[in-house]
Formats: sequence, C-alpha cells, structure tokens
Amino acid sequence: MLRFGLIGWPVKHSLSPPMHGAAFQACGLDATYELIETPPSEIPATVRHLQTQGFRGWNATVPHKAAMAAIVDQADPVARAANSVNTVVVSDGQLTGYSTDGYGLEEALRAAFALVVPGSSIGFIGAGGAARACCMHFANRGVRKLVIANRTLESAISLLGDIQAFQSGLLGSACSLADTHALQAALADVDVVIQATSVGLHAHDPSPVPAECLPKGIPVMDMIYRRTQFLHAAASCGAPIADGQSMLLYQGARSFELWTGREAPVDVMRRALEIALANQ
Ligand code: NAP
Repeated sequence: MLRFGLIGWPVKHSLSPPMHGAAFQACGLDATYELIETPPSEIPATVRHLQTQGFRGWNATVPHKAAMAAIVDQADPVARAANSVNTVVVSDGQLTGYSTDGYGLEEALRAAFALVVPGSSIGFIGAGGAARACCMHFANRGVRKLVIANRTLESAISLLGDIQAFQSGLLGSACSLADTHALQAALADVDVVIQATSVGLHAHDPSPVPAECLPKGIPVMDMIYRRTQFLHAAASCGAPIADGQSMLLYQGARSFELWTGREAPVDVMRRALEIALANQ
C-alpha cells in the first residue's frame, strides 16, 4: 500500500482526500491519502514519523509551506525561490520539495479564460504565501508583468523585490489596497486579476477591493473555492469570473503526477471535488 497525506493545521475540512482517493481508485493504485493535523512545533517530528512509516509523499498546507521548504533535502528552484513547498516526494530516503500552486493557477486560468501565462500581464490582490508561490511560478513561466496590491504595502514591495531578484528584468509594480487611485492605475493594463487574500473565506466577508478599481471586462479569479463578494462585485460589472476550485484541482493533479509518475485522471478528480464541495 502506498501512503500519501496532507500536513496542515487545521486540515479536517480539506477536500483533498476524496479528490486523491478517486484518482488512486481510477488508476488502480492501492494507495491512501491521510489527513495529518500537525501544529507548527511538531513538524520535524511528524516528518520523521512519516518517513519511518514509509510514506511516499505528502502535501503541506497552511501554515506549513515555508517550514516544509526548510526541511526537504532538495527543492525545485521555483519552490526554493518562493520559500514554499506544498508537495514532497520521498525517494531513496531523500525528500524533494515542489510547489504546485502556481501550476494549478496557470492551468485554472487556461481552463476558465483560455489565458496563456507567458507574455501576459497579471494582477494579484494579496501578497501572502499563495500569491508568493504563484508569482514565482509565473515569473519563471515568462509572464510579461506582475502587479501586486496588498493591505500591507511593505509585503507587496518585498515580494516584488524577491520576484525581480529571481527573474531580473521582469516588469512589476506594487501598491497598497488602501490607495484606490494607484490601484486602479496599476491594474489598468492587466489581462487578469487574481484575488489571493484570505478575505472571503467567511460568507459575510466584504470584497477586499472596490469593483470600480477592476479594469472593465477583464477576467477575475478568486483563489477561494466559492462565490465570494469579490466575484459578485466583479460579475456585476460584467467581468468573466471563476472561483478557486479549478486551481485546487490542478495543483492536486500535479502532486499526483509527481508522486506516481502517471498522468492524473483530471476529470475523475474534478467530479470527486464537486461532490465533496456539494456535501460541505
Ligand atoms: P496568507 O499567507 O495568510 O496571506 C493572507 C493574505 O490575505 C495577505 O496578503 C494578507 O494581507 C491578506 N489579508 C488578510 N486579511 C485581510 C484583510 N482584512 N484585508 C485585506 N487583506 C487581507 O494566506 P495564503 O496562504 O496566501 O492564502 C490566501 C488565500 O488563497 C486563502 O483564502 C486560501 O484559502 C487561498 N488558497 C487557495 C488555493 C487553491 O488551490 N484554490 C491554494 C492556496 C491558497 P497582509 O499582508 O496585509 O496581512
């Protein structure tokens, strides 16, 4: 039996077990995907335990992606630059770290809006861990320009600096969410806007940006898995919209491929995810 899992704090509401369980079944793999709820102080001990238990790999989620980047023996260059590992592959006792969030977002943008990341100009609302991982991936994939708007301006500036150190010559700008004039100007020529803050996780959360700041008719995606106020506001202005379900699907599909070396059964995984979301 192959063992995989998800390390997080908390993880009990995760949609990944049904998604990966369906993929293993569809591919005829005798494998499990287990939830491993772990507080930050116990990460090293948990990782040692998983290795002794013969786990072949695992995902890491909030708040452990940076800790996982520090613990792996080697990491993919993008994951290293982002300081974010959400997928670990165990091979010959060695831990290799990857970040599949950016791949997941890129595939989700392609599926929802036929958007091609290389050469595009992309706006991010938020500069936390998920935005960092995706911006690094996009920088590596040849994006033309990145706009990063965040509540804490210093974090947006710092992220942009790290991206431009990783990919010199990349166009970019950083601004504060509070400065709506600067935000509107910065987003004016982007091809897509990504909502990457945690605002919207609760049903009553307001949109983190006024709809007037979004460029007219430009597609917007929210990383959150449901119809947020941000998406409602964008849709009411005529923007094509998509939530974060597809990003979750494709980041999981990439993890599956890294662990098994097989093509992920994406349609099976999507159906399992839809059922799990409907039952939430
Ligand atoms: P994080 O590292 O904690 O970052 C949180 C971000 O939200 C920061 O930019 C923070 O701004 C901002 N923020 C928090 N409260 C705010 C408020 N009241 N007003 C404005 N901005 C606020 O979280 P993360 O890991 O990047 O995750 C961000 C979101 O992406 C979460 O909703 C998560 O569920 C989602 N996500 C989805 C997927 C997927 O597969 N669909 C994958 C990963 C993450 P400051 O810097 O100012 O604090």
